[in-house]
Amino acid sequence: MIEARGLSKHYGAKVAVDDISFSIRPGQVTGFLGPNGAGKSTSMRLMVGLDRPTSGTVTIDGQRYRDLAAPLAEVGTLLDAKGVHPGRSARSHLRTLAATHGISDRRVSEVLEQTGLSSVAHKRVGGFSLGMGQRLGIAAAILGDPRVLILDEPINGLDPDGVLWVRQFLRHLASEGRTVLLSSHLMSEMAQTADHVIVLGRGRVVADAPIGEFISQG
Ligand code: ADP
Ligand code: ADP
Repeated sequence: MIEARGLSKHYGAKVAVDDISFSIRPGQVTGFLGPNGAGKSTSMRLMVGLDRPTSGTVTIDGQRYRDLAAPLAEVGTLLDAKGVHPGRSARSHLRTLAATHGISDRRVSEVLEQTGLSSVAHKRVGGFSLGMGQRLGIAAAILGDPRVLILDEPINGLDPDGVLWVRQFLRHLASEGRTVLLSSHLMSEMAQTADHVIVLGRGRVVADAPIGEFISQG
């Protein structure tokens, strides 16, 4: 469960997130829907302690992350492009990440398998397509077997096969009782993937309802 209460983030005079409250339940896929600049990424960064709120609180399973990013075993994230060295192989990248968090190499192989990257695990990340890069980002997000996943625009740059895979994979993770939050600027993506949608606009919550309510409204 992710809970935000009166959450705001100002960058100087710029109000990125403007006094928003919401709850994101486990066992579902929840979508943050909104145009570029709506405050989706900022809200996600606040959740995991990558940024500090100007006011209000946001908790994940009751935990308030502050100065440090949330631990990999509790919360998996796909936020911005993290520093993946282009000369490294996918396996080597994940192994390094695993080693710093006390996660086994066996788990690295498992995650490569789950994300469909086993056959290219030895290849340079620099030669990866955007879609393969997204798969690698998702592999890193699930490495710690987290209860909560926060994914910023996970289908960006994916080919049609990749899009279908992400949808099925996120739905599968939610069916295991995990909390899954993804952002997208596409209503069509929400309709295909999310159980519940929170619409953001100019840093405010514009709507917060089960997907069925959006579809029946057309
Ligand atoms: P979204 O993810 O919905 O595209 P963001 O959360 O990235 O939106 O951005 C919300 C608003 O806050 C935008 O107007 C953006 O320009 C601004 N913003 C985000 N991060 C910063 C920052 N570090 N400094 C200044 N403005 C920022
Ligand atoms: P998005 O969240 O839409 O994927 P970004 O997070 O890269 O995109 O940034 C959204 C907007 O926030 C950008 O247009 C940029 O102007 C602004 N922004 C992000 N980081 C900063 C920053 N450190 N300083 C000023 N503006 C920023």
